Amino acid sequence: MADGKTLEFNLEPCATPVHASERERLLENPGFGSLFTDHMAMIRYSEAQGWHDARITKREPILMDPASSVLHYAQEIFEGMKAYRLADGATALFRPEENAKRFQASARRMAMPELPEPLFLKSVEALVDIDREWFPSVEGGSLYLRPFMFASEVFLGVRPAKEYLYLVIASPAGGYFKSGASAISIWVSEHYSRAAPGGTGAAKCGGNYAGSLIAQAEAIEQNCDQVVFLDAAEHKWVEELGGMNLFFVMNDGTLVTPPLSGTILPGITRNSIMTLAREEGLTVVEQPYAIDQWEADAASGKLVETFACGTAAVVTAVGTVRSSGGAFTIGSGGPGQLTEKLRRRLVDIQRGIAPDDHGWVKKL
Ligand code: PMP
Repeated sequence: MADGKTLEFNLEPCATPVHASERERLLENPGFGSLFTDHMAMIRYSEAQGWHDARITKREPILMDPASSVLHYAQEIFEGMKAYRLADGATALFRPEENAKRFQASARRMAMPELPEPLFLKSVEALVDIDREWFPSVEGGSLYLRPFMFASEVFLGVRPAKEYLYLVIASPAGGYFKSGASAISIWVSEHYSRAAPGGTGAAKCGGNYAGSLIAQAEAIEQNCDQVVFLDAAEHKWVEELGGMNLFFVMNDGTLVTPPLSGTILPGITRNSIMTLAREEGLTVVEQPYAIDQWEADAASGKLVETFACGTAAVVTAVGTVRSSGGAFTIGSGGPGQLTEKLRRRLVDIQRGIAPDDHGWVKKL
């Protein structure tokens, strides 16, 4: 049975790629998540054969049987990562091994087979290589990569499936937020929880996002950009946004972020920011932070900045927090100095502008 170390990808280049002039036009304004490249990576898994049939092939619709178990019981996980064009013209990934490991952790939680790290890395690298003409020309552009896996077995019994399909698609991306706003507003979800103790909050599974959409819709209705979730048991502790982790900057040089207690996603940006902040001389503490404390600290001036971070939006200042009870503003309501400094440091490393002292940048 293939263990993933020896499995080679069969290269089947697309015979009808998007014409170069059309591609150039599309790449001038890629947006986020609606433009895709010519190819995809694909690997099959079955209990009998293990990982097999690895291919880089034309990106096209996949045929699914209506009884494919993912359509009923949502056994599905995914990753989100970016390939960058560096200052010297080379292409690179940012800490892709961390995505591979998180994908394995998500698989374990969802009773799915773990894709070996070398296969994950090979799939992503091969796709970036064949679609290397698809890097957007816009400032801050990147190639967003979406590895995902789902239960493809045709079976309606409630148990872990015996067959899975793993795919990687690539989407040229510009900025994440439509407004291009310099600070976002967030809505406190008082009724809905994203994750509960013992649940799937730390896994990157589609179901977590399905359950969060109603709260995100409520945020939009309230004229906010994003929703912030509180803990499920007490509705007191700040956890994370729908797709980003949170950091709180105090006036004594402390940086607070909620701990990885199993109900929030262990963000790779979060982890990188903690390292960079320590290097900047900040004291980083992972500890629970209450919503009431947040408001009190913003009012007293103890809290000077709040920012959210994640692969898609990198580092984004949080300016205002709204709930049914009212609203409060953090600092000036715009991006603070430290938010800007940490964002710059991270982006400069990702883009090959600053030296990669941590070995985070994997050139392809
Ligand atoms: N929390 C959630 C719920 C997310 O979806 C994401 C995006 N993957 C993050 C945090 C940030 O994770 P990362 O920095 O690895 O992108």
